[in-house]
Amino acid sequence: MKRLGIIIFAFIIAFSYILPNMVVFASEFSEHGIVEMIDASTWEVKELKEAGLVFGGQDVSIDMPSVLYPFKGTEHAIIPITALEKMFDAEIIWDAKTSNIRVSTDNGKRVLRFKLGSAVADFNGKTYQFPYNMPPRAMNYNGITRTMLPAGVVELFGYEYHWNNESRTIEINYPSQRVTDVIWDETGRFQEIHIPTSGKTLTTSYYLDGSKIGGNDKIIVDLQNARFDLPEYKLIGKERIIDFLYGDIQQIVAFGVPNENKTRIQIEVGSRKGYDVFYDDARKMVVIRFINSVRDIQFEEVYSTPTVVINTGEYPAYNVIRLKNKIVIDVMNSIMKYGDGRAKTEDINFGGVSKISYSQYDTKYDANYNSDDIVSRVVIDLEKGMSSDDIYIENIDNEIFVYIYGNPLDGIDYVKASGSSSSLSMKFDRQIPIYTKYNSQSGVVNFDVPVDSINFEDMDVDLHDGVVENIKVKANVSGKHRVFIKLASGTKLVNPKNGDKLANLQLAFENKQLKNSKWKNTFIVIDAGHGGNDPGAIGSKVTESTLALRAAKSLENRLSGLGFKTYMIRDADVTIARAYRKRIANELGADLVISIHFNASNNPNARGIEVLYADEPTGEKKRLASILQRHLINKLHMVDRGIVNRPKLYMCYAPKMPSVLVELGFVTNEQEQEMLMTREYMNNATEALTEGILEFLQ
Ligand SMILES: [Zn+2]
Repeated sequence: MKRLGIIIFAFIIAFSYILPNMVVFASEFSEHGIVEMIDASTWEVKELKEAGLVFGGQDVSIDMPSVLYPFKGTEHAIIPITALEKMFDAEIIWDAKTSNIRVSTDNGKRVLRFKLGSAVADFNGKTYQFPYNMPPRAMNYNGITRTMLPAGVVELFGYEYHWNNESRTIEINYPSQRVTDVIWDETGRFQEIHIPTSGKTLTTSYYLDGSKIGGNDKIIVDLQNARFDLPEYKLIGKERIIDFLYGDIQQIVAFGVPNENKTRIQIEVGSRKGYDVFYDDARKMVVIRFINSVRDIQFEEVYSTPTVVINTGEYPAYNVIRLKNKIVIDVMNSIMKYGDGRAKTEDINFGGVSKISYSQYDTKYDANYNSDDIVSRVVIDLEKGMSSDDIYIENIDNEIFVYIYGNPLDGIDYVKASGSSSSLSMKFDRQIPIYTKYNSQSGVVNFDVPVDSINFEDMDVDLHDGVVENIKVKANVSGKHRVFIKLASGTKLVNPKNGDKLANLQLAFENKQLKNSKWKNTFIVIDAGHGGNDPGAIGSKVTESTLALRAAKSLENRLSGLGFKTYMIRDADVTIARAYRKRIANELGADLVISIHFNASNNPNARGIEVLYADEPTGEKKRLASILQRHLINKLHMVDRGIVNRPKLYMCYAPKMPSVLVELGFVTNEQEQEMLMTREYMNNATEALTEGILEFLQ
């Protein structure tokens, strides 16, 4: 049984908090596929096709997009010079006098000297001709001017370059390597998988939650530039398989990805498991280490109470240190992965919290820890007059909830036992008689309890989880607390009470209709756009990535509440490579894909809703787009920007099944931003999407 807290999303009230201090990110450029640039030498304005830039399978985030530039009748990919800095720590020096540009890597072992506008350059003292004879040029995008070079120039610095025409992506990688073995290792403090390679290998990884898609949880690690090359005697068929008889890890399967220069490691685990992947230069191997991590820290309203929610890679072990007006939470054996992993402090100044700080804690000088303990530390500073004694902490699955004003659900608990059943329990200070009344018209179960038997305050909790719609408590009404439970359509109260005297009340709900839902084999993938170090569009109060995740969680809740099988590409504020997003729906065999985004524009008045799709012969993607657009406009009464065909936009064309990218409003429009941040807007938007999906599937 999986214990779930009352669905959190419904209670996030919009307020501004943790805004990233970075300004613009590359992945945002591609939303519409075309960017406007000014050629800095001719002042000519050009509409250029944006090109994705991926290094070792990860998106490269810089302040300027890579584009296709028409040159002598053919389009060629050009990249900003800052991409070289970002990808391989290149040093760039510009000599204003000679207008020579010098790019060097490997401590000056590789040096390229060139001039703007000249296709002939000097590399390590030898003449070098830029690919296609295309000279570097200065381009201006949104007020930023950068030198742009033909993408193939990266080969000079020892990297591999590949133009992926299908996804319109510049793929840059470390030189090709070989995987020579896959070894299980538990000699150290943490369990590890060692994957020796012939040289530096980059990886991407993701986690598949078995409770969502069937079967066990799986961790998938892709070695982006390493071919699977194990001797035959280590293989069964074409795979290296390691089986385990006991423990949490059940099986490791390693194999070469067909037709690609990649190796995949698939790890099947018995319960949610944290992990870290890195390349160990000294031992020349990829290491997969099983260790917990802090993935996300958010300040939210949970049960209408200001709460810090710490999301971890697996069920956490943690220590709490209460100081006068701050509280310290140390997550044991864990890596701080939130943000870019560096120590940071965010000002909150809301809901009793003044600051939240987080870091990888140095245990060396702390007598409470061994020096080799690996600890992620979260410190919550309270506003003046608040006391850490009031804070209540609990953890549910892989989340730690830090309630700033005490336990918001003292004596009451709601637990989702399965997709179609749940229970509500309450503890009273003595045995009291309970009479449950059921109104079949309104679908509401209600009952009273004496005011002095339990400590309640008014409560109004939206669940929409397919079993229960809403729970409401009206505290202290003529000497009674009144509890109202609105059931979802098809839900029955399994165990009505007719005056039974109880100190522990447990009410069970079951939705048989849902259990036999006709949608139980229909699989919907939900992609919350951006996340982690890519905030997407940035409004004055909230980022696109935050809103997209809220909307995705709400939509997922509704769809699973109807019995659909669902999978969220991102369930927290984490970075997920686009290269992975666009493959996942196909690899999982989804029936439908919804990618959720919010819009941005330089024009502060731009507003409204649009749905993007990629036209294809069956017309199904277009049909889905127009149905969703109609439902969104009817429900939200927003400006109708219509549906837009974007054949090259990755989340539109890549999935083979019906897929769309919805733009649910502009964060750059002040008025619209205010609205997007309300619970009502989110509820309506995801209700409209749900209705649209149902109409499409009928
Ligand atoms: Zn976006």
